[in-house]
This record gives sequence, structure tokens and C-alpha cells, in this order.
Amino acid sequence: MPLDNVLGQTQALAILNRAVESGRLANAYLFYGPESIGKKRTGFELARTLNCDNSGPLQSCGACSACRRIEQGLHPDVFFLEPQTGPNSREPWIKIDEIRELQKKLGFLPYEGRSKVVLIDGADRINPQAANAFLKTLEEPPTDTVIILITSNPQQLLPTVASRCQGIRFHHLPDPVLEQILRRESEEDENINPDEIPLRISRAGGSVLNALELDLEEWSAVRQTLIQLLHNLSPDRVDLLFAFARQWAKVETEKLTGMLKEMSALIRDVALLNIQCPPTLLFNQDLATDLKPLAGRHSRRALAAMQDTVQNTRLALMGNANVQLALESMLLDFCEAH
Ligand SMILES: [Zn+2]
Repeated sequence: MPLDNVLGQTQALAILNRAVESGRLANAYLFYGPESIGKKRTGFELARTLNCDNSGPLQSCGACSACRRIEQGLHPDVFFLEPQTGPNSREPWIKIDEIRELQKKLGFLPYEGRSKVVLIDGADRINPQAANAFLKTLEEPPTDTVIILITSNPQQLLPTVASRCQGIRFHHLPDPVLEQILRRESEEDENINPDEIPLRISRAGGSVLNALELDLEEWSAVRQTLIQLLHNLSPDRVDLLFAFARQWAKVETEKLTGMLKEMSALIRDVALLNIQCPPTLLFNQDLATDLKPLAGRHSRRALAAMQDTVQNTRLALMGNANVQLALESMLLDFCEAH
């Protein structure tokens, strides 16, 4: 089966396999969906399937010169663009010069392969001038060419560009697939400890990158701070609670959201311990001993109220709420919950 290097994404692969099999590939595709779940990988695998020297039209061997050069970005018929920062732009963009250069190359017949494949990652970052120039290519697609635009922000593409592509949606990876990918990674990368894989998966939200980039040390420190905070919850120690709010008001939004998710996970675990659930059901199984005393301190109703408060704080922070005030108010609510 072609494209079998891509794990998960059965729906997207089925569409592409059918198209390859029937010789009816679209001229242009839009691969969209969350970050780091296999969109670019699928694009490269499709390029290999279409240009492999060894196998039939439905296979790629992964070992021939064409397959290897596609993987290394050296094949003359496979073009890859992604947004770059330049001397005049701090934000990464794909600029008109790069699009014109690409169009020039597409004017020729495939150099050595059967099909030319264009992969544009971060397609929502093609600047408007370049996107308008690229429209021409989408309107009059060169023969034997497949164009693949890849994005996690499809709504930011020009509608004129998006409407000329066949959309293929990619989904968050299920945990068993993520585990398979991480096991494979851990064989090649000694920084990924196989024992930590379940922890990484539990925090990854279905994204390979999240799982790989999770800083376990930092994450562990956040959990310890939160447990300490939960132990210190008392109207007599408002100074500690407010110091916590002040400190977290300074961090970037992504970290703040991560902290609130951890808070929510810890409160959930305390609630489970409160109703005598076995520790195997906890998100933070390794912290069961630290969490048990907390389970005795709060009623079930209080824990549910705390959980609601965390969710409301997350919502408030998605708007324009003052971070310090929102966190202070959350912690005062915690103190009131018994
Ligand atoms: Zn091959």
C-alpha cells in the first residue's frame, strides 16, 4: 500500500490512494488541520509514490535514488517552499520572488521523474502579492504537476486560492498512533526516554510536536508549584496566593494556558481520590501520594466548584481579562470552596 509511512490519517490517505489508483489526482490540494500531525509527511510520501524509480505507480520503495533525494529535498522535480524571515521582514513569509522562481521551473517538463510535485508548507503565509501571482498557476495548472498547499490556518488563505484546491482534512492523532510514532522516534533520538512516552502523550493533545517538545523538567516544576499552592489555600495566606498571581501574570499566554490545564488536571485527580477511585485512573499517577491529603481537605462539591472556576478563568483569559486579577479572583474562589 502506498503512503504507509504516514500513521493515522486514514481518511486523508484513503482519498489520496483512490486518486493515485484511478490516475485522477487533482491538480491542487489543500492539506489542512492542526499542527504536527502528518500533513507535510503525507505530501512528501505522495511525491515519492509518484516518482519512485523501483515500484509501480502505487508504491514507493523508500530506498531508490529518487525516494532518497525527495526525502533530502534534492529531487529536481519536487519543490518545497515554506515561509522565511528576510532582511526586511521579521515575520516569516513566502514572497513573490520565490513564487515567480517556482513558476519558471514549472514551465518545463518533469526533469527526470514522472510528476512534478509542489509542496508549500505554511500556505497561509504566502504574502497577498505572491498569492495573487500564484493564482495564475492554480487557474492554468501545468501538466503532470500536483500542487499541495499545507496549512493549519485555512481560514487565512485567500478565498480565491482555497477555492481552487481540493481540501483534505487532517485530524489530531489518536493516542495509540502517537505512541507508535514516539516509540519510533525514541529509537533514533536518545533525548526521548521510552519510559516518559505515556506522560508525553497525556499532554500532547494529539500533536507529535507537542509530545516531542514537552519540557518535562519545566512541566514537573509547574506541577509541584500548583500542588504547593493547593496546600497553601487559605484566606490567611493571601500574600502567597497573590504572589502566585503576580508571577503568572508575567508569562506568555501559551504557558499560562498550560498551567491552567495542569491545575484542572490536578483538581480532577483530587476529586477522583476524594471518591476513592483507584490511582490508576489519575492523570498524575506519580503524584498520588501528594494529592491524597488534598482529597481529604475538600468536599466533592467544593472540588467541582474549583473546576468550574478554572474553566471560567480560562474563558476569561481568552478574552481580554486582566490576567493578575483573574488569577487572584480564581484563588480567592478556591479559598471559599470547602
Ligand atoms: Zn523508490
